[in-house]
Amino acid sequence: MEHVRIEDVDEWMGPSDCKRPLGRALDTDDVAINYYELLPSESFAFGYHRHSDQEEIFIVLSGTVTFETEAGEQVVGEDSAIRFEPGVFQRGVNEGTDRVRALAIGAPQESGETEILRDCSSCADRTPQSIEPGDDCLHTVCIECEATTGTFT
Ligand SMILES: [Zn+2]
Repeated sequence: MEHVRIEDVDEWMGPSDCKRPLGRALDTDDVAINYYELLPSESFAFGYHRHSDQEEIFIVLSGTVTFETEAGEQVVGEDSAIRFEPGVFQRGVNEGTDRVRALAIGAPQESGETEILRDCSSCADRTPQSIEPGDDCLHTVCIECEATTGTFT
């Protein structure tokens, strides 16, 4: 058995105000679980993305998350949940004015190949991206032209 307080789990860098890797803290075997808080305009993810082998479930505890999906925009409000099967693109953004609190569950824990798409102004297109470590930050980098498209702390 493992038992943690969410606020005691160290935060990870990324596109959200707060990401706490609960699964790692709980030493889970088969699932990934992350706790998130998003300020207005923040996202769970570095870009519109998909995982080849992992389903993802988002449970919105407070606030409202707007997901871009292959089936159009999905608005997920407080006390609601959404599930994405492996291999479909999605990205959840806080387009509201309140802070979002949410849990994200992924299974299996290893997501397989992750493809990330972001707008690249140099390419004037939405292009595949990689995530590269910086100085106390992470960068998203366009795979086609090597331009940095985002910096996250
Ligand atoms: Zn580019």
